[in-house]
Amino acid sequence: MAERVEVLLSEEEVDSRIRKLGEQISKDYAGKNVHLICILKGASFFMCELAKRITVPVSIDFMSLSSYGSDTQSSGEVKIKKDLEESLENKYVIVVEDIVDTGRTLKYLKELLKDRGAADVKLCALLDKPERRVVDIEADYIGFSIPDEFVVGYGLDYAQRYRNLPYIGAVKFD
Ligand code: 5GP
Repeated sequence: MAERVEVLLSEEEVDSRIRKLGEQISKDYAGKNVHLICILKGASFFMCELAKRITVPVSIDFMSLSSYGSDTQSSGEVKIKKDLEESLENKYVIVVEDIVDTGRTLKYLKELLKDRGAADVKLCALLDKPERRVVDIEADYIGFSIPDEFVVGYGLDYAQRYRNLPYIGAVKFD
């Protein structure tokens, strides 16, 4: 089936929003260090841009979790595929995610990372689909709330394609 991608959020909109998130985080964490945890692969583009806009000291680590695969429906199960390399002991952690959908991934992560001794765990997502939530969790920092559409670009894929689009697009199947 052929699909096409329509621009939902332009490159300029996304970049300027990330700049604002960086400013907000820099203010909120004044006098502290932040430890960013990037959820691979989707959040990698977002985390790089965000980290560049944060002015307090930043360290980074990466984690990979099970996700959609090549389907557009969530399996409902979260598994660790690649774990963190650094200890979280006494760190001010911000989990950086591409999108909050059902909320299962972030809920799982927040509990896991708190148990590992982080001083604090906050969640930052570029996109949020509030209509799709099935568990009770909200990100502390959100780039954009979007309607219930399957989106790609800025790190997000459809069957491993489109991650390199510099904007957020909605996939249309027609
Ligand atoms: P949740 O656990 O909140 O249901 O799912 C979060 C994960 O599902 C995201 O990190 C992302 O990998 C995937 N996901 C949810 N919605 C979309 C979407 O619209 N497009 C893409 N490419 N992935 C999505």
